[in-house]
Amino acid sequence: MRKYIENIIIGAGISGLTIARLLEEKKIPYLIFDSRSNIGGKLETIKHGEYDLDVGFQIIIEDYPAFKIFPEIKNIKIKRFESGFIINKNKNFYKILNPIKNPIGFLKNSSFPDFSIKDKLLLIVLFLKNEKSKNLNVVKYLTNLGFSKKFINDFFKSFFQGVFLDKNLQIPLEYFLFIYKLFAKSNVGIPIGGINSLATLLSNKLNKNKIELNNKIIKINENSIIDSKKNEISFRRLFCTDPSLESLMDDDINVQIFKDIQYKKTFNYYLVVNINNISENIIYLFPDSNIISSLYFSKKNGDNYLVSISSLNCDNYNDIKNEFISYFKNVNSLELIQSFNIKKALPYIDKFYKFKNKSYIKYTNKIYFSGDFLSTPSINGSIESADNLIEDLEL
Ligand SMILES: Cc1cc2nc3c(=O)[nH]c(=O)nc-3n(C[C@H](O)[C@H](O)[C@H](O)COP(=O)(O)OP(=O)(O)OC[C@H]3O[C@@H](n4cnc5c(N)ncnc54)[C@H](O)[C@@H]3O)c2cc1C
Repeated sequence: MRKYIENIIIGAGISGLTIARLLEEKKIPYLIFDSRSNIGGKLETIKHGEYDLDVGFQIIIEDYPAFKIFPEIKNIKIKRFESGFIINKNKNFYKILNPIKNPIGFLKNSSFPDFSIKDKLLLIVLFLKNEKSKNLNVVKYLTNLGFSKKFINDFFKSFFQGVFLDKNLQIPLEYFLFIYKLFAKSNVGIPIGGINSLATLLSNKLNKNKIELNNKIIKINENSIIDSKKNEISFRRLFCTDPSLESLMDDDINVQIFKDIQYKKTFNYYLVVNINNISENIIYLFPDSNIISSLYFSKKNGDNYLVSISSLNCDNYNDIKNEFISYFKNVNSLELIQSFNIKKALPYIDKFYKFKNKSYIKYTNKIYFSGDFLSTPSINGSIESADNLIEDLEL
């Protein structure tokens, strides 16, 4: 028998879960489908013995504006980072504190030779800037503001390549400033239990019978979908949260808008390292390296640390290991426990950012798209996209 469900959501990532939460609050019927065996989509955490390993180094900025719609996020236990970073330059490490949150510490502690007083003061000027233009190039903008080439390379490119997965910072300037300001003033960290805890938290208020995992949608028609068991289910509204779903559309409705969407890749290595004299809970940056872009130590027991190493392009563990040992001479032992090659990490958004001044797309009269690819590629963007969509539907 052909089934009918008023609202179908494809994807139990953060965007799909947000749609479900907002429909649940309005007591509107829905069903979520996901091809994966877990909720969370890209917010994925894998258990490895005693360790919770996130698939890709993923952090939460506590002041993400979209978090306001879910007050319970305030209660999530987060291992906060020290606000600032440690930079490796010419084989030395320098600790640099956040100038907005800790101006005195910043001026006192930041002995890094390449950062001039002018560069430091310009960080405050940048904090006060507000730019809406879509077409200004970030690096050119920073150069025109007066930042030195060294500072742009050693701080901006080095730090934000890990956030945007792009060393050249080719992202909308408005988005760059938004993230820069959030990092400057907000607490940042990783949920205890891993990034997937956020998805679990949001799903706690959903009826688990309304989430069908391990069920891949294989066809999308104007008024119905077909699932992996060949069931046809008709809908009043369909919410798609992954651009690849367009390829499942019937030719009559497929307008091929997402056909060429591209993604940035990243590599993530988890090591257990016995080491002394390092700092935990602060991000280490390596502006001169083409192998390791950043890393992060979290203490486990004694001198044993879990180290998460991020690289934009290195798929060879031996290169990672050799470079790590060259930076940290005091390593007593080291073991690789997991590595991830994430091919579809963050979407390039040049075409879709604020597409027609919206952060979602009304694809047909009954089919909608939301997700990070239509907003900013982040947890905040995914929630914001879904929230704007449901708000505009005025259900
Ligand atoms: C390595 C990495 C690092 C990141 N770092 C950060 C960070 O530090 N901070 C931050 O805020 N954000 C970060 N992000 C971005 C953030 O994780 C994503 O923006 C967000 O999780 C995307 O959520 P979404 O719901 O839009 O999409 P997704 O999570 O991709 O959800 C889409 C869902 O649709 C499902 N699906 C697709 N096709 C089908 C089908 N045919 N049938 C059924 N289900 C289907 C998928 O299985 C998936 O679960 C990072 C992402 C990655 C990958």
